Amino acid sequence: MEKTLVIIKPDGVKRRLVGKILGRFENKNLTIVAMRYGMMTEEIAKIHYAHLSSRHFFKELVDYMISGPVVYLVLEGEEVIDIVRRMTGATKSHEALPGTIRGDYGLPGTQNVIHASDSKDTAVIEIARFFPENE
Ligand code: UDP
Ligand code: MG
Repeated sequence: MEKTLVIIKPDGVKRRLVGKILGRFENKNLTIVAMRYGMMTEEIAKIHYAHLSSRHFFKELVDYMISGPVVYLVLEGEEVIDIVRRMTGATKSHEALPGTIRGDYGLPGTQNVIHASDSKDTAVIEIARFFPENE
């Protein structure tokens, strides 16, 4: 069965949106197969977003991701990667449609509530990055 990696980012945890976000995934009949709460290190944040390292917002993004605790989730289900990306909504919260997590809760700018893997290859890499003990 397909799996994907979701991170409830620091703004999602600070704003007490964890329960609402988990509820959306459960309502969609996706299975939570791993979950962990903790602080992301700067080193891992830079690796996780390495593909954006040349962008002007990279330092702001890394600082934001290490600004407070996050919740890491592995969700499982048929077509789960695509489903969760659609439930997440567009990267810029002001462009994300109502009914998506970012559309309903995202703030303008970097603080867009959650991360979700964007392909089968990145899902495998990201699950191993944050849940190495499950390999
Ligand atoms: N981001 C940003 N400004 C941008 C693009 C991205 O602050 O113009 C941040 C935002 O938090 C986003 C993250 O960088 O979620 C990763 O960007 P990506 O393009 O991978 O978007 P995502 O896959 O999260 O939709
Ligand atoms: Mg991305």
